[in-house]
Amino acid sequence: MATAYIALGSNLGNRHKNITTALFHLVREPHIILEKLSTFIETKPYGVTDQPDFLNGCCRIWTDLSPRELLTTLQSIEDKMGRIRTRHWGERNIDLDILLYDDIEVNEPDLVIPHPDMKNRDFVMIPLKEIAPEIAAKL
Ligand code: AMP
Repeated sequence: MATAYIALGSNLGNRHKNITTALFHLVREPHIILEKLSTFIETKPYGVTDQPDFLNGCCRIWTDLSPRELLTTLQSIEDKMGRIRTRHWGERNIDLDILLYDDIEVNEPDLVIPHPDMKNRDFVMIPLKEIAPEIAAKL
């Protein structure tokens, strides 16, 4: 089983419910074990700043899906939830990103792991530090 870290974010609608619903979908996936979950924190939007604050969190999973299969699974959860997006880098009801997948590096047009620029983003690093301080310190 691989160990992966997933970033969870929402800034549209009932943010807490959206993240919880995504987690319900995640735990029902046969090839994913939810192993650890961070506290959810409120963060200011990054990039496009004239939008509501986000609720962000992070979880650790065990999975025997490949990075690509994991991306497809996360996107299917986003799709099931409506995947509401207003504009690039804008409001979204749910955002699920692969932060890390073991120590594997992926550099493909539509999949980059570790997630680009994650170490400069507090909304990623604060929840990650909470559940995996030793991993966060090495980034
Ligand atoms: P967003 O609209 O912010 O959710 O961005 C989604 C896009 O980012 C998708 O087209 C993914 O293919 C791409 N992407 C690249 N790397 C990753 C990653 N590590 N985790 C999730 N999505 C990724």
